Amino acid sequence: MPVMRIGNGYDIHRLVPGRTLIIGGVTIPYERGLLGHSDADVLTHAIMDALLGALALGDIGHYFPPTDPAWRGADSLVLLAQVNKLLMERGYQVSNLDSVIVAEAPRMKPHLPAMQLKLGQVLGIAPDQIGIKATTQEGLGPIGQGEAICAYAVVLLEKCSMDN
Ligand code: MG
Repeated sequence: MPVMRIGNGYDIHRLVPGRTLIIGGVTIPYERGLLGHSDADVLTHAIMDALLGALALGDIGHYFPPTDPAWRGADSLVLLAQVNKLLMERGYQVSNLDSVIVAEAPRMKPHLPAMQLKLGQVLGIAPDQIGIKATTQEGLGPIGQGEAICAYAVVLLEKCSMDN
């Protein structure tokens, strides 16, 4: 009888000039990027929170506090690998995940397959286990005005060993 756990995550970052736009580990050419202590990869952060939440392990702010200089400019895929290690230590692996990026611009769709590949490499799963969808906010609110990008993620974990 497989033991399964579900988790959900959310994140938002402000879009500002002078930053590189990195989402799902992919650098996307754009005139602005997301502001944050790390690389501000909003999708990867939402996924990390979903993974931690599935095992009631807290949130990414607990493991990678924005006050810690060690995470300044950090590659969020490296942080994701650390979170994945926490799951593996507890005998869990990702069964699948699904996510949504909400951005008015730039267009995300051309970059989604590369994001699936990058995230899959870190999590040790296939691209078809990683759902990534993109939508706009129809011009409404701060996201619709292009001031920020947010992301939502849901993950399902399955226990692959009974050792823990
Ligand atoms: Mg974040």
